[in-house]
Amino acid sequence: MATPPDLDLVHPFAAPPGPGQTIEIAPGLLWARLPLPFRLDHVNIYLIEDGEGWAILDTGLDDLPSRSAWAKLMDGPLAGRPPTRLIVTHCHPDHVGLANWLAQRHGLTLEMSEAEYLTALVVHLEPEALETEPYRQFYVDHGLDGETTDAVMGRGHDYLRMVAGLPKTFRRIIAGERVTLGSRSFEVLTGGGHAPEQIMLYAAADKLFVSADQVLARISPNVSVFPRDPDGDPLGIFLRSLRAVKAQVPDDVLVLPGHDLPFFGLHRRIDAMIQHHEERCGAIVEACRAEPRSAAELVPFVFTRKLDAHQTGFAFSEVLAHVNYLLRRGRLRHARTRDDVHRVEPA
Ligand SMILES: [Zn+2]
Repeated sequence: MATPPDLDLVHPFAAPPGPGQTIEIAPGLLWARLPLPFRLDHVNIYLIEDGEGWAILDTGLDDLPSRSAWAKLMDGPLAGRPPTRLIVTHCHPDHVGLANWLAQRHGLTLEMSEAEYLTALVVHLEPEALETEPYRQFYVDHGLDGETTDAVMGRGHDYLRMVAGLPKTFRRIIAGERVTLGSRSFEVLTGGGHAPEQIMLYAAADKLFVSADQVLARISPNVSVFPRDPDGDPLGIFLRSLRAVKAQVPDDVLVLPGHDLPFFGLHRRIDAMIQHHEERCGAIVEACRAEPRSAAELVPFVFTRKLDAHQTGFAFSEVLAHVNYLLRRGRLRHARTRDDVHRVEPA
C-alpha cells in the first residue's frame, strides 16, 4: 500500500533496467527486473558475481513472461557464466515462484531461512487447508462478507498457480551467519511481520544492504494476520524488526529492495514506515470511538479507495494486524456487541 513520498530519499539510478537487461549497481552486482501481473508490476532480482558465475537472489513468480525474461537474461547479460547459488529472501510467490524451476535447470540448491521454506512447504502439502473450518469461521467472526471470505480462502490455490513447486531439500540460511559470494561477505539478518523469517543481506565493506521486502522506498509491505494464528501480532514483530535493522545497519548503505528503486536514506525510510503504521493505529482507535467496530468494518477507515474482493481480503488482514497490535498493547479492548461479530473499542 502506498505511503506518502519520502522527503529526501536519494535514488542513484533514476530508471530501472528494461526487460532482459541489467544495471551494474556496484562492480559484480547486477540488478534486473521481472514482470508481475499485479498493480505492483515488477519484482527486483539481484545477481552477485560468485567465482565462475552469478549467485541469484530471488526468482520472480512462475508464469510465461517471467520464464522468458529469465531466458533473455541467461542468453544476454549472464551468457557464458553459470548460476552458482540460488538464495530466496522469502516465501511469497514473486520471490520463490521460479526457484524450483531454476534449481532443476541449473543443478542448484535452494537457500532459504527455515521458516520461509517451511511456510512455502505447508501450502504445497495442504493447499486446501485454509478453505476448511475453523478458518472460515475466523473471517465470519471478524465480520467479513461472503464474497471476500471466498476470495481470501482460495489463496492457497492462488499461491500454487504462481509457484513452480518446491525442491524437496533446501540449505538453511541463519541470522547472524555470513554468506560469502565472490569477494563479498554479507552478514545475514532476518526479519518478520511481512513474512515469517525474511532474509536480508548486509555487506559492510561495500555499504550495501539487500533489504528484500522488509524496507521498500515507496510502499509499505503488507503485514497480515492469518487465521492459523488468529491472535498473532505480525505488526509488533514487523516494527521490532525495523528497529533492529536500524540499530544494526548504518544509514549510509545503498538499499537494494525487492521492489521499486534502490535508495539511500535507510534510517529515514524506517522512521517513516514506523510513523505510517502509528498513524493507521491512531485512525483505527479514533474510528472506534463512535461505536465498537470489527476489523472488516474498519477497512474503509484505513483504505479509502475502492477495493475489489481480492484487495479487500488483504486490507482486512492488514487492518486486523493493527487491531491485534493495539489489543496487545492495551489501547483497544474487546467490546460486547449485539451479535457474534468480534468488535473492539478504545480501552
Ligand atoms: Zn513479499
